[in-house]
Amino acid sequence: MTFPIVRHRRLRQSAGIRSMVRETVLTVDDFVQPIFVTYGQGIKNEISSMPGVFHFSLDQLQEEVKEIVELGIPAVLLFGIPEEKDGVGTSAFIENGIVQEATRRIKSWYPELLVIADTCLCEFTDHGHCGMVHTFERDGHVCGDVLNDESLELLVKTAVSQAQAGADIIAPSNMMDGFVQAIRSGLDEAGFSQVPIMSYSVKYASAFYGPFREAADSAPQFGERKTYQMDPANAREALREAETDVLEGADMLMVKPALAYMDIIRTLRDQFDLPIVAYNVSGEYSMVKAASAQGWINERAIVTEMLLGMKRAGADIIITYFAKDAARWLRDR
Ligand SMILES: [Zn+2]
Repeated sequence: MTFPIVRHRRLRQSAGIRSMVRETVLTVDDFVQPIFVTYGQGIKNEISSMPGVFHFSLDQLQEEVKEIVELGIPAVLLFGIPEEKDGVGTSAFIENGIVQEATRRIKSWYPELLVIADTCLCEFTDHGHCGMVHTFERDGHVCGDVLNDESLELLVKTAVSQAQAGADIIAPSNMMDGFVQAIRSGLDEAGFSQVPIMSYSVKYASAFYGPFREAADSAPQFGERKTYQMDPANAREALREAETDVLEGADMLMVKPALAYMDIIRTLRDQFDLPIVAYNVSGEYSMVKAASAQGWINERAIVTEMLLGMKRAGADIIITYFAKDAARWLRDR
């Protein structure tokens, strides 16, 4: 008998064989494209730390959405930058809020495109926290506690107003305890029992959100988000967070960020049968863009490998600022 008998390379010897035995395939149906909408006229401003990602005023939005639809991307995730901010984030839940207005327009242009509304308060509060804050002074510094149950009421109002505007999916991201149950009840009472909840179940307090905070103008003015977002060191806690959301009626479970948390995506995939969503966040995007601008990496190959990795880890859906690029690469392959 000659050695070796088992030759793994037999199945790698040609492109045809490799594609026949490929285990994971990216498709355009996997992607969600985030969009930042803002007030004003004629605004299409590139976010400096996120080349290729823009703030759009409502009058500039249609062209962008048209491109997304033509590429076959099934869904967008909306973030709004309001005209006015206050302590409780009123602009998040007013009828003519920026996200609500953008949703109405997008659904009137392209009824079949899914609009996912990010449901949080941090873009709309003057202090930049994701909920209502009780502030106090300690040793001359302004401090604040983010109030859980009081914030839930505001979050429910936000979700209901987004559903009323036509949002197809509500994606609560503020990491208050009980937010899925509160929003589920609120949506049901308002007649939106068919609107699914994509919960930011496992959202870590991550440095990878840096560029987003510039994009959404939502950096906390004091304190940090570690009292509600998760410690990056914890994996078992992710199971508890996800389990709670499942029991409270979540329809999809998200892990955010993605790259440094592939083990969490895999763990959730193995433990739960709900669709798993990976959020390929702003910092992950910016790092690739920066290295690519330097000519240090091949952007297309790197992005494809990253997205494939997320899917292989168990993600069914990937929210990514690369969605349009990736859709184009898949089409032109
Ligand atoms: Zn937030």
